[in-house]
Amino acid sequence: MVVDIGRHVDLANAIRWPFHPANELPGLQHNIVSVSGGKDSTALLLLALTQDAPNLRAVFADTGNEHELTIEYIDYLAQATGVAIEHRRADFSRQIARKREFIATKWREQGVAETIVLAALEVLQPTGVPFLDLCLWKGRFPSRKAQFCTEELKRNVIVEQVMLPLMDGPNMIMSWQGVRADESDVRRYLPECEAVGGGLYNYRPLLRWNVDSVFEAHRAMGIKPNPLYTMGASRVGCMPCINCRKGELREIAARWPHHIDRIARWEDLVRQASKRGGATFFAGANAKHQQGSIKEMDVAQIVALANIRQAVEWSRTTRGGIQYDLIATDGETDSKACTSAYGLCDSDWVPMEAAV
Ligand code: SF4
Repeated sequence: MVVDIGRHVDLANAIRWPFHPANELPGLQHNIVSVSGGKDSTALLLLALTQDAPNLRAVFADTGNEHELTIEYIDYLAQATGVAIEHRRADFSRQIARKREFIATKWREQGVAETIVLAALEVLQPTGVPFLDLCLWKGRFPSRKAQFCTEELKRNVIVEQVMLPLMDGPNMIMSWQGVRADESDVRRYLPECEAVGGGLYNYRPLLRWNVDSVFEAHRAMGIKPNPLYTMGASRVGCMPCINCRKGELREIAARWPHHIDRIARWEDLVRQASKRGGATFFAGANAKHQQGSIKEMDVAQIVALANIRQAVEWSRTTRGGIQYDLIATDGETDSKACTSAYGLCDSDWVPMEAAV
């Protein structure tokens, strides 16, 4: 299929295999596209389709912290492209069971108060919601400096559940990744294709594409972008993402307060599973207060200062008030907070005019 999508990208020529995969290994070639519901991974899937990539599988790693419109969009995409998109979820039941054991023995040996031990044991049960279960297991939320969510909820799910079973003998597995060089320094120097080992290759055909090209690919193929892009969202991923920006948080709270309510409930649960009782969705330990350093505050004061409801209040302010180091302010030019080299979270800034 030849699809000329205009001045930016010719889909048919955009792909440049760095080798002839069919000749590389004698087994089957499998092409796995990670679909997040964001613009880049959608363009990636469209590109794979135009290339008639053999044994194409599209996989959506559902974090359980998705916007309902993204779930609907994944269904739309599957129906519009004719590609069945597999929904996969991480399962932390084993880790939670081990954590329960650890709390029942080690916390008690360490002299942790029995009320805290019992409260943690009460709440530490798998819920089936990957994001929440991950945080219950860890006793904390991920942060920009400890961004274990991408790995645990996205990368590992696809590698363990989809790719590893294929890495059998002479098969070649192409892992299509929707990263673009202009997104961040981390991504700028990535190779277009690299061998990981065991027949697995990372393939990044959008590396030289820009945002316009990505949306052109949508238009050329008659595919609508995720509607969240036209509703003030600058990224499509978790709702919210831990890398959420100030204006974005304000927008989310105004449009979808039920997601803020859900995060507030999660904060209560994760706090109960944490030894110090100090978990907040945004990294509260890095919050500062205009009246002084939080180093002088106890955990309860920090939680009162940095919980999701306070973060929303702060997002409605212009200057002053509480300042969060780990929530980027609107004026920051470096909005490429999600530095995953795998492009599994579509968390880059999208100018709204590019989306319409
Ligand atoms: S979208 Fe944000 S919160 Fe969700 S997995 Fe990616 S980095 Fe983590």
